[in-house]
Amino acid sequence: MNSLNYHQKRILNCSVTDPNKILPIKYKWAREHYKKGVANNWVPDEVAMQQDIELWKSKDKLSDDERRMILYNLGFFSTAESLTANNIVLSIYHHITNPESRQYLLRQAYEEAVHTETFIYCCDSLGLDPDEIYTMYQNIPSIKKKDDFVIEITKSIFDPNFKTDTKENIQKFVYDLVGFYVIMEGIFFYAGFAMMLSLLRQNKMVGIGEQFQYILRDETVHLAFGSDLINTIVEENPEIWTKEFQEDISKLIKQAVELEYEYTLDALPRGILGLRPDIIYEYLKYIADRRLERIGLSKFYSSSNPFPWMSEIIDMKKEKNFFETRVTEYQTGGLRW
Ligand code: FE
Ligand code: MN
Repeated sequence: MNSLNYHQKRILNCSVTDPNKILPIKYKWAREHYKKGVANNWVPDEVAMQQDIELWKSKDKLSDDERRMILYNLGFFSTAESLTANNIVLSIYHHITNPESRQYLLRQAYEEAVHTETFIYCCDSLGLDPDEIYTMYQNIPSIKKKDDFVIEITKSIFDPNFKTDTKENIQKFVYDLVGFYVIMEGIFFYAGFAMMLSLLRQNKMVGIGEQFQYILRDETVHLAFGSDLINTIVEENPEIWTKEFQEDISKLIKQAVELEYEYTLDALPRGILGLRPDIIYEYLKYIADRRLERIGLSKFYSSSNPFPWMSEIIDMKKEKNFFETRVTEYQTGGLRW
């Protein structure tokens, strides 16, 4: 083990790797994503909620459709964040023994805890009924369908006897990673992002909107890590990447787009100012193409991006002062932590 050359490191099934020996690092992307995550530090309770509370409690400043859309998104995200955290800690971490990837997974798990905390904070601030919000994933069919879809895709690796030791099992594992990263975090969060950030652009629910901006920025890194992880597994195990398997994955991503559209129609049945379900559908197809291409598959929809402002938020550099000054302070003000 001492003489391990880092070129012998493998992302899966690496019997020569000591999981405690992180240096020298082979998978530089894992380290990059870790650093990006740390640079994006934030906590939800530093975002002021007073304006949101006033707006929410007002009688006529929010329409019924806007309220429905807000509740649906709080309902979906409130449980989706802990579902993701559980997946990372209970299954992915178990099978990925590579130390630099595990370092990132620990960081991601913390960020999911911050996201879970965000929805506790939103519920508390607005005085929402937790029994309503935290059961929407069971009671609202269009939300339940999304969660069930992810749980179905990802169930094989929760089997305690599951090992990534055969071609078929590595395929199953990659299939699960597509479910966690590309679909849950890369598609099922995005109608919600578009809805809540569009509301923010109209100066409504600005506290929750700011929190969604931070979450979107975090999720962008999660998705990038997940895609790099998938691509590296495929690169090191090229025998799994059959035409048939590629088609299975493409099909899964297309099904996810339809489920997310169904959810959109339910959350936003009539549309609100500047936002209609069919425009969000266009956006979902646009991002699905990006997700497909990111893991080496051909794009399918060729739809154009109806929300260029979404990419601006994702690409926003911290020094642009978009997220007020807080984020920059985290980076330079070591004493705060
Ligand atoms: Fe999250
Ligand atoms: Mn995430």
